Amino acid sequence: MKLDAPTLVTVTIFVMVVMGGLYLLSWSQSRQTRALGFLGAAQIVGAGAVALFGLRGHIPDWLSIGLANAAMLLAFGLIWAGARSFEGRRVAVRQTGAGAVLWLAACLVPPFYASLGARVILASAVAGLYCGLAARTLWHHRGERLPSRAPAAILLASEALLSWARIPATLVLPVPPVGTPTDPFWVAALCFVALLYTVAVAVLFMALAKERLEAEQRRAAETDPLTGIANRRALSGQARRILAAGPTALLLFDLDHFKRVNDTFGHAVGDAVLVGFCAAARQVLPGDAAFGRLGGEEFACLLPGLTVGEAARIAETVRQAVAAMRPDLVPGLAVTVSVGVVRGDGDFETLLELADRALYQAKAQGRDRVVIAGPGLRQVA
Ligand code: GH3
Ligand code: MG
Ligand code: MG
Repeated sequence: MKLDAPTLVTVTIFVMVVMGGLYLLSWSQSRQTRALGFLGAAQIVGAGAVALFGLRGHIPDWLSIGLANAAMLLAFGLIWAGARSFEGRRVAVRQTGAGAVLWLAACLVPPFYASLGARVILASAVAGLYCGLAARTLWHHRGERLPSRAPAAILLASEALLSWARIPATLVLPVPPVGTPTDPFWVAALCFVALLYTVAVAVLFMALAKERLEAEQRRAAETDPLTGIANRRALSGQARRILAAGPTALLLFDLDHFKRVNDTFGHAVGDAVLVGFCAAARQVLPGDAAFGRLGGEEFACLLPGLTVGEAARIAETVRQAVAAMRPDLVPGLAVTVSVGVVRGDGDFETLLELADRALYQAKAQGRDRVVIAGPGLRQVA
């Protein structure tokens, strides 16, 4: 198969413009994803560079060499800026354009401009550096697990290595391995590789943006917005998994006379109490506890692997921690919680019902206490 340079150049320009356009469109629809704007700009500037490279011999050299490489380096700088912006890092305009400016400055030095080897070395070094930095940025933030993160980082790293590989090749071989830039084979081959990388980088970044959005939506759908802990839906899911492994202890919390807190101090203070309760409970609950808000001032917690006695002791610790809460802003506000404890298997809702009976007893016996569900409901001292 013969690669036809003019066709490939045309296809590459077309693909980059379309990709860039799509990126800029998504960016205009959700401005908060600034990264898409940088990556769209990278594609458009890159398309300009390829067009100038492709016109070599038909336009003045200062355009097809000087400006074309500057545009290419700016495109790589913009990819790095896109990666940084995607990770919420500051984007420095000066660093994004530094490669292009360095290139243009070097072109003003006649011996440099006259040497194909020197030009290949500088352009490859800077392009590789930007790709390497973009790969490093993505890898550095791997704590946020996204399926396309590793493929994108590896792709950019391989692009950096490929770029840098041209430097020793240029130094060792008598003729620069890229041949003369007007050699149709090399233009076609470089264009082909550039096209593959362009499409792959564009697709992977689009996938990363989509994966992050999905993860955020999933998190929002499973989180209680006021307290930040799991909501009922998320807790049910966790409970199903935990209960599938065997019998589990469950604590059901209900704040005492919470309506009175709202009525006396206002809804905002009520909200603060709910947040404070969660913080206090989380401090004493074991790390593997599944804790969530069922709704209103009711919370539940599954304690895998604990006996009912151990679970009741933990419930008692939470009760004491809550009773000890003394918000500075609201003197006179005292909060207490009643807890129903149960251990069993099967369905989460059934277990909740059993715990609710114990909770009802705790309320009936005067609140601010822990009661264990069972044939003869037991109160924890
Ligand atoms: P008991 O000791 O019997 O549990 O009495 P209670 O007042 O705590 O129980 P009740 O169910 O009568 O009242 C619950 C109150 O919780 C009523 C509702 O206005 C309030 N509430 C529910 N959700 C929220 C919330 O998100 N924020 C605030 N501030 N109040 C809430
Ligand atoms: Mg209630
Ligand atoms: Mg209540």
